[in-house]
Amino acid sequence: MKKGGSMCGLIGVVAEDGSVSVSEELYAGLWSLQHRGKESAGIVTYGGLQYRDRREMGTVDVVFRNNHLSELSGNAGIGHVRYSTAGASCPENVQPIEGVYRSTPFWIAHNGNLTNTRELRDECMRRGYFFRTTTDTEVIAALIYFNERYDFLDAVRSALSRIRGTYSLVLLYKDSVYGIRDSSGNRPLVYGERRGIRVIASESVACDVLGIPYVADFSAGMIRKITPGHAGALFPVSAGSVLQLPEAKKFCIFEYVYFSRPDARFDGRRVKAAQRQMGRNLWRESPVDADVVVPVLDSGKYAAEGFSRESGIPMEESLFRSHYVGRTFIEPLQERREKGMQIKFNPIAEEVSGKRVAVVDDSIVRATAAKKVTHLLRKAGAQEVHLRISSPPYRHPCYYGIDTYRIEGELIAKRHNGNIEEIRKEIGVDSLGYLSLAGLVRSILEVSGKKSQLRENNFCHACFSGEYHIRVFENGDGNE
Ligand code: SF4
Repeated sequence: MKKGGSMCGLIGVVAEDGSVSVSEELYAGLWSLQHRGKESAGIVTYGGLQYRDRREMGTVDVVFRNNHLSELSGNAGIGHVRYSTAGASCPENVQPIEGVYRSTPFWIAHNGNLTNTRELRDECMRRGYFFRTTTDTEVIAALIYFNERYDFLDAVRSALSRIRGTYSLVLLYKDSVYGIRDSSGNRPLVYGERRGIRVIASESVACDVLGIPYVADFSAGMIRKITPGHAGALFPVSAGSVLQLPEAKKFCIFEYVYFSRPDARFDGRRVKAAQRQMGRNLWRESPVDADVVVPVLDSGKYAAEGFSRESGIPMEESLFRSHYVGRTFIEPLQERREKGMQIKFNPIAEEVSGKRVAVVDDSIVRATAAKKVTHLLRKAGAQEVHLRISSPPYRHPCYYGIDTYRIEGELIAKRHNGNIEEIRKEIGVDSLGYLSLAGLVRSILEVSGKKSQLRENNFCHACFSGEYHIRVFENGDGNE
C-alpha cells in the first residue's frame, strides 16, 4: 500500500480578521518546508462558507501561481508537501485529503506513518466506506466519518484512539484548524502567533518566513484548535488530564541530523548549532590527519564546520553543489537519484589536488552520495579521502517517518552488519568514521535551548539502534 505520510511538511494558518486571505501565508510557509517533500503540494482554504483547494504533483512554485493564490481566498487553511522513498506517486494521493463529518467536508494532512492501517482500512470498507486514495491518511478520515454521533473534536479523538504509529496532523474543519501531535512526539509540530494570525507548522522556519514568532513545540499527545476568534485551545489526544500527559518522548533524532532546515528550532534548540556540535564530537571520537575538511553540501556543512573548528584543519567548500538539483535522497527513483548526483557536485580540483581530504557528511543511507563524492575527489587529484559521518551507521529501517523499510536491502550499514571496514571498502575511502549514538545524543543536549525539555531518553534513534518504541510487524505495514 502506498503510504500517505512519510517525511512531509505541514502548515495551518488562521487569521482573526475574516476579510483577510491566508493563501499567501500558506504558500510562503509551505515553500519554506519544501525540503521535506517535493513530489506534491496542496493547499485548502475556508472562507465565505466554502472550501477552495488546489493540489497537484510537483513543487510548491510549480503547483501555485499568482492566480491560484487569489482563487484560494479564505481566512483559514492548511497545506502539505509530500515525499515518499519508494513506489509511484499519484495525483489522487496528494494531500490534504478530503473527508466528511456529518455531511460536512473537512480536510486532513499528515506527517508520519501509521502501523495498523490494513486492518482499519478493511474494517472501514466492510462498513461501506469508499476510499478514493491509497493513503493511510484517508483511514483517519474514514474513522472520523464513522464517529458522527460525537462533536467534531471528539470524533477526531475517537479516530485517533484506533490508530497506531506516528503522526503530526493538521485538519481544517470550516474555519477551525486543528494541529495534533501523537503521544510519542515523534514527528515535529510547532506553533507560532502574533496579533491577528496563528500558525501551526512542521518547522519553526515557516513561522520565521512569515515574520510570526515561534512560540513553542506542540507537546506530545496534544491537540491545539485555532479559530479566528480563539487564541488556541488545548486538548489531550486521549482522555485524561492535560497535566499528566508526557512531554515529547521519542522525538525523531534524524530531524536534527538531516531532515530539518539548519535554521529550524526544535525544543528551543537550533538545528544548525546541534549539527556543529555533532561535528566537534565527531572529531573528538574519530580524528584524522588531513590537510582540508570538505563538507558534502548542504546537509554536511555545519558538521564539517564543527569538525574543522575543533580540529584546526581548514575547511573549504571544494565540492561545488548546484542548487538547481534538489535533495537527492528524497527522490523516489534510484535512476533519477544517480543522475541527480552526477550533475549535483563538481569538485574544485586546485583545492583538493595532492591533499589529504577529510570529507564530512551527515549520514550514509544507501551510500550513493558517498561513493560518487569519493570518486569525484579522487578524479580531481585528492591524495587521500577520509570520510567522517556525523551520525551512527544507519542499520535499521525506519517505520515511523521515512519508509526506509521499503529499501531495507539497500541500507549499506545493514548489508555489512555494521562492519565499518567492509563499508569503508565498498565506498572506496581511505578511512571511515561515524559519530557514536551516545555522541549524537550528547551533541544535541550540549546545545542550550530556551525551555528545552528533551532528555537523553526522549529521542527515537531506532534507525541507528534498532530500538523501536512502537511495535512494528513483519510485513512492514505493521499489521498484525
Ligand atoms: S527510526 Fe530514525 S528516521 Fe525514523 S523516526 Fe526514528 S530516528 Fe527518525
